[in-house]
Amino acid sequence: MSCLGKSRAESDLANERANQQQPNLPLQEPNHYLNGQAGLKYNEIMAAIYWDLNVACYFPKVVQGKPEDIDWTMIQDLHAGASNFMERTFAQLRQQLVYEPQDRSGRIYLALDQLGWRIFTICAHAEAFRAAIENESDNDWHNLLSIIVTEQRSIEIFARTRDLEWRGPLLSKAGGDWPGLREALAPEINLATEHPHHVVQTESGGLRRPMFPWDDSAKPQVNIKGNFFAPGPNKVDRLVRKPAYGKCSLCGSGEICDCDPVFVASDFIELREYPGQGAGTRALANFSENMCLGEYNGELCNESKYPGDDIFSMQVACGGTEPGQIHRFSDCNVDPSRFGSWTRFSNHHCDQHNANATCFNAGDRSNIVFRSRKDIPIFEQVRIDYGPGYWSAPSRICQCGSDKCVSNRWRRT
Ligand SMILES: [Zn+2]
Ligand SMILES: [Zn+2]
Repeated sequence: MSCLGKSRAESDLANERANQQQPNLPLQEPNHYLNGQAGLKYNEIMAAIYWDLNVACYFPKVVQGKPEDIDWTMIQDLHAGASNFMERTFAQLRQQLVYEPQDRSGRIYLALDQLGWRIFTICAHAEAFRAAIENESDNDWHNLLSIIVTEQRSIEIFARTRDLEWRGPLLSKAGGDWPGLREALAPEINLATEHPHHVVQTESGGLRRPMFPWDDSAKPQVNIKGNFFAPGPNKVDRLVRKPAYGKCSLCGSGEICDCDPVFVASDFIELREYPGQGAGTRALANFSENMCLGEYNGELCNESKYPGDDIFSMQVACGGTEPGQIHRFSDCNVDPSRFGSWTRFSNHHCDQHNANATCFNAGDRSNIVFRSRKDIPIFEQVRIDYGPGYWSAPSRICQCGSDKCVSNRWRRT
C-alpha cells in the first residue's frame, strides 16, 4: 500500500462523483447453485462455504441479552447441521471403509483422506459443503474437492481466526480408534485472540504478523475499526463531514445524518504473500462491481506520522456530489503505518487493478473507501492503482509487466 499523490486523488474525485449513485449495498448471501459456466458455479459454492463459516463463527458470539430475545432455532440449526452431518459421517465410515466413487460414503472417505479430520470438520460447518457432497454430480464434486484441497490452508485460517468451535462434533469420538482423529484434536495455537487481519499467510504455508517499520524496531500493525485523530496543538480533524462536502453516500441526505456504515466485505478479505510483492489482499467472496469493500483507516495527521514513511500514508481529498462542491484537504494524511485496516496491504497493478480508492461521505465522517471497479471473483487479488505520484520516485520501479506500466513510461524518458 502506498501514498496516493495529488493527481490520483483528483482522478478519484471524478470517480467518486460517478459512483455516488450506488449506495453501500450489503453483501447478498451467495446463491449456492447458480446455473451457468462450471467455474462460476464452483466460485459460488466456494463463496458460500466461506459465507456459511463466517455465520457459524459469528452466531455463537451473539448469544447475549435476554433469552427470550434470542433466535434459538437458528442457533440450534447452525450447530445441529454440523453435528448431525458428522454423526452420519461416522456411521457411514463404520459400514464401509472402502472407496466407492459412485457412493456417497466413498465421497466422504476420499474427502477425509485428502483433507484430514480438521479441514473436513471445519468444512462440515458450512451448509454449502454438506449440500455439495450430497447433491453434486461426480464431476462437479471431484472438481470442487480439488479446489477445497488447494484452498484448505485459507479455509483453516479463516475458521481459526474467527474462533470456529470445530472440535465439538469430534470430541465424543476421541475415545475410539479412528485413524488420525486424536492427532487432529491436538492443541494448536489460538489464532482467535486478535483480528483476522493480524496474520499474513506466507508463501511457504506459514503465518506471520505484519510489522512496521521494517527494521529492528518493528512493531505489530494493528487493525482499527475507524480513523482516529491524535489531538495536539494546531491539529484539526479535517475528516469531520460538513454539508458542503456533498450528500451522504448511503442515504443521499445533504444534511449530516446518522448513517454508520458497516463494510461487510472486509470480513471476506485475507492477507497473504504474493511472490515478489510481499503481503497482498485476496477476495474470499464474489464482489460485484462498484461495491464498497472497506475503509482506508489510519491515524489522521497533517503529515506522515512516522518520519521517513511515505509508503502507507494516503493524502485525503474529499469531494462533493455536485460540481463546485469539491473540498480538498491537501494537508491531511491518513497514515495507517501502525494502525489501519486491510486496505493498506493492497498491492498495485497498472491496468489490472480491480478497486479504486474513493471518497465516501456517511454520518459525520468523510473518509476514503476502496470500491470495486469491476466484478471481483473469489480468490482474486484485490489491487488498486497507487497513482503516478507514488511511482515518480526514481527508486520505485513497478514490476507489473503491463504494456501500460507506469515504469515503462519512466524508462522511456
Ligand atoms: Zn446518511
Ligand atoms: Zn506497472
